[in-house]
Amino acid sequence: MTAYGYIRKSVVHDAARMLSPEMQEEAIRRLASADGHADVVILSDLDISGRKGRERRPGWDELLRAVEDGVATGVYAYSLSRFARSVSQLADFFELCDKRKIRVRVDRDHIDTSTATGKLTSNILASLAQFEADVASERVKDAFAAKRARDDGWDGPGQPAYGQRPGEDVTIVLDAFRERGSYDGAARSLNEQGVPCRVRGAAWSGTVVRSIIQREAPNEVLPTSGRGAPAGKRSFRFSGLVRCSTCEARGVRVGSKASTFLTGSYNKRHGDVRYACSRARTVPHARGWVNETKLLPVVKAEAERALVSIRRMQKGTAADEAELRRLAEKRRRVLVNFEDGLYDKAERDVRLTSIAEEESKLSAVHWIKLLTMPPDIEHDDPAKVNAYLRRLFSHVEVDMSEKAYRGPSKWVPAMTFEWRDPAMRGDDEDDAA
Ligand SMILES: [Zn+2]
Repeated sequence: MTAYGYIRKSVVHDAARMLSPEMQEEAIRRLASADGHADVVILSDLDISGRKGRERRPGWDELLRAVEDGVATGVYAYSLSRFARSVSQLADFFELCDKRKIRVRVDRDHIDTSTATGKLTSNILASLAQFEADVASERVKDAFAAKRARDDGWDGPGQPAYGQRPGEDVTIVLDAFRERGSYDGAARSLNEQGVPCRVRGAAWSGTVVRSIIQREAPNEVLPTSGRGAPAGKRSFRFSGLVRCSTCEARGVRVGSKASTFLTGSYNKRHGDVRYACSRARTVPHARGWVNETKLLPVVKAEAERALVSIRRMQKGTAADEAELRRLAEKRRRVLVNFEDGLYDKAERDVRLTSIAEEESKLSAVHWIKLLTMPPDIEHDDPAKVNAYLRRLFSHVEVDMSEKAYRGPSKWVPAMTFEWRDPAMRGDDEDDAA
């Protein structure tokens, strides 16, 4: 049973508002002894504002910890304003004490949370805190509304609308849109003309053009087409794996979140899987997409080269071998000791786990476990193949700068493989280096 008293003396040196620590302590002790607490732990923050958080008020921090840990059975203070200077802070404090069933008594404000009136007071505080927050957010909204009324082009607290900054011309965007009749077409045209985009180094995209049309010429906004069917459950062998080296090389980016990976899709008419660069529609670009059947043999050949390294690793170095033998022997001894009753089940499991951890640190063992059974890249479940390939490669760059064409791909594009573990590259690669 520990009672806590909290004293705070503000930095404000105003005789009328001055509450001396001695006076506060006296009030606390009087209240506590009336409740049968002969001893009170007094925590204090002197010359510290009540607006400061717990990290700046050591005494307050200690009090909160005593409440949180359930050490305190009662909290005493001279007045509410000693605890905090904002209603929301106060409400939080009362809620915390209420959860821990800790009684709070405040001398001057006649608050006692063990009574019905005291509970009512803490409820009122909670509503007041909510009110305070609502008023604050309303103030912000009002300020925005006032600013919008004064400044016609103001577009919220973020960035000014396109066309507001020097060098930006909305009419060029509108003309491109009217001429091409589509957002992507307009974006492509702007990129071809070399019109700079808002974000430096970025390229125009259909999305950006659409947002400008929506604001500048709302009655010209195109009806949403049914394009972009849901992807469904089909998974692609190369998703998150193949990147467009054409865009990579140019450093083109469209928006900050745009994926640099090619997008897989299933073409119903030709019954094939293809990968497209999402930027090919708007950025001057040659090859827009490539068939999976064209990429497959190259990726497969590259992945097979890893088998050479895997076989080499399966043999392992002499040191690895010795270490593995030592761990195997260790495991055998643990099991024998368990059989003999020297170790109980818990002891056995702790020891086996630590042995397994040591084994997993041997990278060769780790890789062999992952790669000993490569899937059939052409025929196995695409999701399984994708997982395997992504363990091998961090990504594969595909050259999309070749001549554009219609219909199925006729050429195998140039590809660059980035291995996750350089040691996994095939032996011939080492010879070439
Ligand atoms: Zn591209």
